[in-house]
Amino acid sequence: MVKDITIRESQKIVDDWIQEIGVRYFSELTNLAQLVEEVGEVARIISRTYGDQSFKDSDLDKNLGEELADVLFVLICLANQTGIDLTEEFKKGMEKRTRRDFDRHRNNEKLK
Ligand SMILES: [Mg+2]
Repeated sequence: MVKDITIRESQKIVDDWIQEIGVRYFSELTNLAQLVEEVGEVARIISRTYGDQSFKDSDLDKNLGEELADVLFVLICLANQTGIDLTEEFKKGMEKRTRRDFDRHRNNEKLK
């Protein structure tokens, strides 16, 4: 069983890794491009799994979990290099969502 990692710990793990292995963060613009690239890899798998596209042989070793984790890694890099505390921002985002959507989805006929 893998030990759980908090969001704060994950930011520290990524930062330590960048200092030790990655030398330094890529620029914010490069990491934005990397993030879009990784989101594209997620889209490719979902498109072929749940959409109408079929897998090419070269896609068969792709794994949705791995690609989502790649997105998370680059997202954490961007947060670290721009001084964002993802724990705080995630909490604030969930509170905002709860206030804003308290009965919105429950009242959405399309979801019933
Ligand atoms: Mg990837």
